[in-house]
Parts: sequence; C-alpha cells; structure tokens
Amino acid sequence: MERKVAWNEYDEEGRNNVFDFAKKYTKFISDCKTERECVKETVALAKKAGYKDLNDHIKKNKRLNPGDRVYAVNKEKAVVLFSIGKKPMEEGMNILGAHIDSPRLDIKQNPLYEDSGLVLLDTHYYGGIKKYQWVALPMALHGVVALKSGKVIEVAIGEKGTDPVIGVSDLLIHLAAEQMQKKGDKVVEGEDLNVLVGSMPPLKNDDTKLSDDDKNDNHTDKEPVKKAILALLKAEYGIEEEDFQSAELCVVPAGPARDYGFDRSMIMGYGHDDKVCAYPSLIAQLESVNPDRTSCCILVDKEEIGSVGATGMHSRFFENSVAEVLDRLGQFSDLALRRTLANSNMLSSDVNSAYDPNYAGVSEKKNTAYFGKGVIFIKYTGSRGKSGSNDASAEYIARLRKIMDDAGIIYQTAELGKVDAGGGGTIAYIMGNYGMNVIDCGVGVQNMHAPYEVISKVDLYEAYRGYKVFLEKC
Ligand code: MN
Ligand code: MN
Repeated sequence: MERKVAWNEYDEEGRNNVFDFAKKYTKFISDCKTERECVKETVALAKKAGYKDLNDHIKKNKRLNPGDRVYAVNKEKAVVLFSIGKKPMEEGMNILGAHIDSPRLDIKQNPLYEDSGLVLLDTHYYGGIKKYQWVALPMALHGVVALKSGKVIEVAIGEKGTDPVIGVSDLLIHLAAEQMQKKGDKVVEGEDLNVLVGSMPPLKNDDTKLSDDDKNDNHTDKEPVKKAILALLKAEYGIEEEDFQSAELCVVPAGPARDYGFDRSMIMGYGHDDKVCAYPSLIAQLESVNPDRTSCCILVDKEEIGSVGATGMHSRFFENSVAEVLDRLGQFSDLALRRTLANSNMLSSDVNSAYDPNYAGVSEKKNTAYFGKGVIFIKYTGSRGKSGSNDASAEYIARLRKIMDDAGIIYQTAELGKVDAGGGGTIAYIMGNYGMNVIDCGVGVQNMHAPYEVISKVDLYEAYRGYKVFLEKC
C-alpha cells in the first residue's frame, strides 16, 4: 500500500498556501512556548474570530443558540472552544483535541544559590527528555510569579534580540573521559541541570539597588552575586527570593522557530509536540461557522506527565464545560450530557515519530510515518502488545477514510516505532472512556522531545485541511 507525497498534489500557488500557513504557525510557536502563553494567544485569536467567554454567559444567565461560539479557560493552562451546531447536542459533537504543554526544565520552589561566585537556578525537568540534549544551548525563562498580594507577574527573559540568554553548562571534552564511559541516561543527571544566571558582584559603592537590610552586609556577604541577582529581579520584576515558592517558571530553548532545509520545506523549533497539532486544530475550529454538529476544540496541559491534575485531560474541566454549554442551550440533563459525550467523534491529535534514515532501525517501514506524506492516522498507540492504547474502531476509521478521500486530504497511517521498540501514549484513551469514537491523528516529528524538533510544512497543512473537513463532515 503506497501513500501519496503531498507536495506532488500542489502547484506553485498551492505550495504558497502551504508556506503561508507554516509562516503563521512558526510565529505561534515562537511566541507561545508554555501552556499559559498558548492559552492567552488562543483566547486572543478566538475573541478576534467572534468567540465569547462561556463564563460571561453563565454569570449573565444568557442563553446559547445554534451559531453561537464560546470558549472557557481552565486555570490559564487549558482552554475549550465550542461552535454550536444546528443539531441537538445529544447527537454528539465533532471534537479536535491536542496538548499545549511541552518538555522543558522547570525551576524548583527554592532554586537560587551561589557557588564560587556563580549564581544558579536549580531545576526539575518536565516530561520525558534525554537530559544530555538540554545543555550548552541558549535558553530563555518563561512563566509567572504569583505574589501574596494576588498579583501575578509574567516573566519572559531571553526572547528579544537584546535580551540575555541563560543555560545549562556541559563538561568540556578534555575532561570528559569518565563521563563518556557512562550510559546515556547518566551522562547528564537530573540534579546537574542547573541554570547559570549570573556571575557579577554588585558595584563596590552602589548600594542604591539594595534594600536597607542588605546595605548593611553588602560587600561582607558570603553570597554577593546572589544578592546582586536578587536586587536585579526586585528592580525589574518586583519579586523576592521567597516568591519563587509560588512561581511557575520554565526554562525553554531561546529564540524563534526557523525554516529548515535548503528548500525551506520543514520547520525546526521548540515544542512542535504538540503545538503542531494544537495550532491547526485551533485554526480549523475558528473557521468552523454554523456547523451541523457542534464543533469543539480542547487544548490541554500536562499530557507530557500523564494528563493528570486539574488542567490535564483527566480533569473534569472538559465534561463540566460541556454540561455548562448544554445548560445554556436549555438542553441539560445528566442523561443528555452522557449522550452528548458518547455520540461524539474525536481526533485526538498528537505528534508521531517521522521516519529518520539516521535511525531506520527503530521503525517498520510499511507502518511508519514519513515527512511529506500528510496527516497521520494512528489506530493504536501503546507499547508491549498495544498496552495502554485506545484502539480505534475499524468502522470509525472507514468513515474517516471516506471523508478524507472525498476531500482530497493526503494522509498516511503509522505506528510509533516497530513492535517492542518502545511506544507512547496520548489523551485518546481518556476521551474513549466516554464511549465516543476517537482516534489518534497528527503530524510526524523528527527529534521528538529534543530542544529543537523538526516537522514538514506540508504535513502541517494537510493536518489543518483534514481537521477542517472532519469538523464539517464527520
Ligand atoms: Mn505529544
Ligand atoms: Mn510528547
């Protein structure tokens, strides 16, 4: 069974459309590196497209009607959008789901220390990473610091051209004889992922930036550089050392995503997993106006650590939001909610591993995703005998094949690696619990979970086109 190369389906004008869409996506992932940043931008784009806040409808006791479009935000880290259809909700929705968290280094609660004149931030990595990949790179700090006053301060250092960057050091090859003998997971260990942020003591007679307490022990202090860094943070952001306790600060690769390849056919950037599915899902949702079945797009947090917690897919947020929408439509009952969920169709969109000639051995060539062969449908994920997989039903896949073929969408099928090579999970099985039709679907990625991942522009475009058709026709 041969799959088509999507590039061959496009003439010059068609390829320009592919590149235009990729350009907008490149900006999105360059601006939005954390789930909070993704939610903020999603809400901004939704409002621009005419979406209203579901909570406003609830507060003002305003009804929803077919054609209305609303969004709801969960703790600034997950978001759901609904475009209300003409048919009763009980007949089910068409749902696009993806995650907006990506692997990174999170700052610990008590992170700051000075060692031999260097000031560092202690981290705990987030998600599955090869730790040795995250050293000797320009990194940026993104996130929020919540103060006791209730104020939340946003931090982003390292993205503007004039910003400094930070990073984790690596051991020089000259002294790495012992390190190079270690197993890959021990080459760089978790507790060694400390981020260097400063090395300069305060000016001898410059007490102006220090608090009164600190002025007394200025210059006699054992940690002068740390004090200077704290003074700088106080002046720039109004935060103190104690405030790290209530912060969510992430260290991520600095700088924008970029075109990859002499022909610019690919994009290299941080966080394709899973923004390369979240972004086209969002755009397809925003373009869904007056659908027959209600269109829904859910972008969640915490997938990389098991979809747990209040902002992960396991949380009741999604179900509660659907209940609120039913209530606003005057259609709510417990049974109506259950039927809405059970009768829904979903594309659980997440990245899959794209074939890599450098590591051909981990894939089985017939059932592997390839760059350029379009959006991927993944019947099952899991590992060691499909364990942990939502195995999508044959009947549902047949329907999707018809819809995609009729619309001329270029797609392929794949597994994540050859049998017993490894595996992975997504949010699909969680939505499967409601009894809805759900299949994993997404875009192929090289270097998954590395600081810089790579995708094909035409696969991104086919995902967008496929998601649009799914919302309209499924
Ligand atoms: Mn993912
Ligand atoms: Mn992942």
